[in-house]
Amino acid sequence: MSIVVSNISKFYNQQKALNAISFEIKQGEIVGFLGPNGAGKSTMMKILTTYLDSSEGTAIVNGFNIQHQPIDVQKSIGYLPEHNPLYLEMYVREYLIFNARVYKTPKSRIEEVIQLTGLTPEANKKISQLSKGYRQRVGLACALLHNPQVLILDEPTTGLDPNQLVEIRELIKSIGKEKTVFLSTHIMQEVEAMCDRVIIINNGEIVADTYLNEIADKSEQIIEVEFDYRIEEAFLVKLPNVRDVKNIHGFVYQITFDTTTDMRPIIFDFAHDNGLKILQLSRKNKNLESLFRELTTKNDEF
Ligand code: ADP
Ligand code: MG
Repeated sequence: MSIVVSNISKFYNQQKALNAISFEIKQGEIVGFLGPNGAGKSTMMKILTTYLDSSEGTAIVNGFNIQHQPIDVQKSIGYLPEHNPLYLEMYVREYLIFNARVYKTPKSRIEEVIQLTGLTPEANKKISQLSKGYRQRVGLACALLHNPQVLILDEPTTGLDPNQLVEIRELIKSIGKEKTVFLSTHIMQEVEAMCDRVIIINNGEIVADTYLNEIADKSEQIIEVEFDYRIEEAFLVKLPNVRDVKNIHGFVYQITFDTTTDMRPIIFDFAHDNGLKILQLSRKNKNLESLFRELTTKNDEF
């Protein structure tokens, strides 16, 4: 296991920001930590990187305990904080050399991370001249300097334009082939684009922890269909793979199927064969978006 979190709680004075959080991340996984603003994502990440102490509970990162072996934990982790703090007046290579000295990493590693993060053409530019996307690359390069096993990235794609987004996602995915990546975001599309697995946090509590392909596999298929006149629900049960039929209102029916095959063409043929006309037909699958909404709607900020 790369990361094992056991019952971590965090209080800021009276306010409970994290409530008994537990999860495990295997080596080589790319896991999205998804939740609305204020859910506790940054707090959890700061505890894992040992920047903050937990109030209760503990965690093991790369085999090291955050309370008893903080230096070893820091050596195992590359951390990109939420507001990627950079010295804008420094040049890219100069900034990386400066950080390499702090981390005591060999100078040869600097050129490696410049190449790895696609910064070669920008290495002699001032950080202030770079776009937000390239600044994020500098942050990632810095996080990779000491060649850590685990990367903790706090909202790495927030504030990027669509082109930069695609580039940083690709970069994170390619880094993720060799390392364990734990990244936070409040945007579910980011998880779908980059991650194998998602842990959803809301109000300091974990409300879901699932592999993305399991959401798709488990999801029943729900189709809403409106006919031109009322029919018996029992009649629709004759359709293949039906689990449930509900008349929602008027001539609108919600049919749940136990299959991943698209049932819309079959419903269409069924209606035609039985002299019914379809006025509307739509698929309402359970996906990450509906799961996220379902689990976090109580939070006003979302
Ligand atoms: P997220 O990163 O998911 O947006 P945070 O971990 O930053 O959430 O914050 C979780 C909760 O803890 C929020 O209610 C926030 O206001 C509170 N919080 C975060 N940092 C501090 C702090 N240093 N002092 C007091 N409260 C804080
Ligand atoms: Mg945050």
